Amino acid sequence: MHDVNQSSSANDHALPEDLKRCVAFHGHLCPGLVYGYLVGKDASERLGLHRSQDEEVVTISENDTCAVDALQVMLGTTTGKGNLILKDYGKNVFTVFNRSNKRAFRFSRRGSYRYEGKDQEVFAKLEAAVAAGRASVHQQMRQKKLKALDLLAKPFDAVFDAKEVTCPEPPYAPLAPSKACAQCGEMTMATRMIDTQDGRCLCMPCARQEGLSS
Ligand SMILES: [Zn+2]
Ligand SMILES: [Zn+2]
Repeated sequence: MHDVNQSSSANDHALPEDLKRCVAFHGHLCPGLVYGYLVGKDASERLGLHRSQDEEVVTISENDTCAVDALQVMLGTTTGKGNLILKDYGKNVFTVFNRSNKRAFRFSRRGSYRYEGKDQEVFAKLEAAVAAGRASVHQQMRQKKLKALDLLAKPFDAVFDAKEVTCPEPPYAPLAPSKACAQCGEMTMATRMIDTQDGRCLCMPCARQEGLSS
C-alpha cells in the first residue's frame, strides 16, 4: 500500500539535466513546467535551434502558465529580450518561430489527460481529493508531481499536436528612448506614452487617472 503523503523527492535525481535547470528556475516540478519543457525540447529538434542568445528564436505563448518558465530556460526566449510574446488567451498552444529560416511550429496540447503511471491507486486518490477541494497543499504538490513524471514518460505526440505553420515574422522588440511623464515625472518609454489634448505626454497609469483610455 502506498502512502499518499510520501515524498517523491528521491525521484528528482533521475530528471534530465535540462529539466532540472527548468525546475531550478521555476521553483518546483509541476505539469505546466513539463508541458513547456516538452515543447521547448521538441521545438529545438524540429527547428534545429540552439538556445537563443539574441532574438533569433521567438516563442508566442497563448497562456501565461508555468510552461512559460520552461520555455524561457529551454529556448532562451525571455520576456526581457522581447522574444517571448504572451497572449493571455488561456489556450494550451505555443508557436515557436525561427527567424534564421522563417520556419515556425505550432504546438497544441491534445485532449483530456489520463494518468498512465505506475501509481494508479495513489494518483486516483489524490486526484479525487483535489477535485473535492480537500487535498492538503502537500497532497496537491504530490499529485502535480506524479502527473509531471507521467507526462515525461509519455511519447511527445501523445501530449502535443505539432504542425508546421506559416506565420508572419514577429517584429523585433522595439527600442525607444525614455522621457519623463509630465504628471509623475517617472522615466517612460516614449512609444508607450499618451499625448493629451493640451499637449502633455503622460505614462499610462497617469493617463488612466485623468480618464484617458490607453
Ligand atoms: Zn509550476
Ligand atoms: Zn506618470
